[in-house]
Amino acid sequence: MEPRTTVIEKRLSQIKRTIAVASGKGGVGKSLVASSLALYLSKKGYKVGLLDLDLYGPSTHIILGAKDVFPKEEKGLVPPKVNGINFMSIVHFTEDKPAPFKGDDISNIIIELLAITQWGQLDYLIIDMPPGLGDETLDVIRLIKKAEFLVVSTPSKVAMGSVEKLLKILKELKTPTIGIIENMTMTKNPFIRNEICQMKLNYLGSIPFDQKLESAIGNAKKLLRTDFMQDLAKIIEETNL
Ligand code: ADP
Ligand code: MG
Repeated sequence: MEPRTTVIEKRLSQIKRTIAVASGKGGVGKSLVASSLALYLSKKGYKVGLLDLDLYGPSTHIILGAKDVFPKEEKGLVPPKVNGINFMSIVHFTEDKPAPFKGDDISNIIIELLAITQWGQLDYLIIDMPPGLGDETLDVIRLIKKAEFLVVSTPSKVAMGSVEKLLKILKELKTPTIGIIENMTMTKNPFIRNEICQMKLNYLGSIPFDQKLESAIGNAKKLLRTDFMQDLAKIIEETNL
């Protein structure tokens, strides 16, 4: 028995819902969706945590413009607040320098992060997942028993190929899947919606490519005013997250 896994359960015991934003693929908008979802729920008055588990390519700190913040030691580590969000990321420890992790390192860091973080009472913990079906994904399923998956795809058949693999694994492991968001759409094409319906999963909606999004990265106030945020908000409200 790994003693830290018992600690993890305790650490997460006061969190009402845990939503892992995932995909089989990189570059589809997971970090944007995770950060914006956290920001939106926080602005609505909920107590929100955001955990960046993309250990190789953490990016939510860039999206939210988190600078010079560090966890406070208090029987563990209390995440700093960034735009009202309790924010935990590997960058607090690596100072955004490249961090070459090997095999077991990944699982160990995830276990360590989950075991030391003092989230306290939260309405939502949003997790920005790394791409693929590696150890991180399996660890989250294993260690955070209440995690529900929100899956992001782009309209591409290539992306959907990897997304489908993730969806199958989630199904095999009986992990709750909220549904799929189609991000960066350019045209009306029913391909992804049809694929998702065939898998008997929830197609939650689409977010068109937003040309002005890039200029809002790093600025939460601007991010809240983007078309991207409006479209995501509509999906959040309709999904009853
Ligand atoms: P992932 O976390 O899946 O690797 P990111 O969230 O980092 O993907 O997004 C990849 C890139 O695409 C980022 O530069 C992001 O700003 C951009 N992006 C994501 N969604 C949209 C969108 N709907 N419109 C325009 N750009 C987007
Ligand atoms: Mg990312």
